[in-house]
Amino acid sequence: MTKILAITNQKGGVGKTTTSVNLAASLAVSGKRVLLVDLDPQANATMGSGINKQTVKTTIYHVLMGNAEIQHVRVNSPQGKYDLIPANRDLAGAEVEMVEFSHREARLKIALENIASDYTYILIDCPPALNLLTLNGLCAAHAVMIPMQCEYYALEGLSDLVNTIKRVRNSFNSGLRIEGLLRTMFDPRNILAQQVSDQLQKHFGDKVYRTVIPRNVRLAEAPGFGLPVLYHDGQSKGAQAYLELAQEILAGHL
Ligand code: ADP
Ligand code: MG
Repeated sequence: MTKILAITNQKGGVGKTTTSVNLAASLAVSGKRVLLVDLDPQANATMGSGINKQTVKTTIYHVLMGNAEIQHVRVNSPQGKYDLIPANRDLAGAEVEMVEFSHREARLKIALENIASDYTYILIDCPPALNLLTLNGLCAAHAVMIPMQCEYYALEGLSDLVNTIKRVRNSFNSGLRIEGLLRTMFDPRNILAQQVSDQLQKHFGDKVYRTVIPRNVRLAEAPGFGLPVLYHDGQSKGAQAYLELAQEILAGHL
């Protein structure tokens, strides 16, 4: 069985891409076959996987437009030990161009059906917006992982996202569920972060992953080398945290 996870939060800078790349590498190192789909025109997951977005020929854009077969677009991350569907800036145009397609929300889902059985896990790195690209991610997924920083406005944004997920469930993807909320860039000495974390656990209970991702400079450095943190500094707290998250997911978080 393939498990497809959309890594989503309409806020930027909360750790979606960092989580996508490092969870992909951590699941792969446990022997799982993993595909990472970069669904953000910024293409940070592509670069962070060691693939140059400037030179890549075909991307997720061509797949969504129906101009390339997904199996011809996938590449292997040179270090990450997982496969990648890359993106680049072309993808920014997809939103507008897809509007005239029928079932425009299901383009990714339909494409993934061709290769899903090659993988145990497919992770989708969504853009920081509740737009048509994110909707494609949510329609293709079995479950959503929500990375978030424990700060004051985090909970407010969360209710918009939860409502969007409910609407997607009602209209397009009745099986979609929230797999879990992931606390990222966590600093336990920060009292507000601690309070927000407590509130999160009160509201969402065991939907909150036990694993907490600490703020760790190695995680921020690694994309500059085109490497998951595991291959930049495997002993770092960041690398260890994402390995722990992979184990929590493999053990069946819920
Ligand atoms: P998003 O994809 O949600 O926009 P990113 O994963 O790109 O967020 O993270 C935003 C910025 O924060 C990036 O510069 C990233 O390197 C950095 N970052 C993410 N997680 C951590 C962390 N746990 N510790 C330190 N820096 C982090
Ligand atoms: Mg991102």
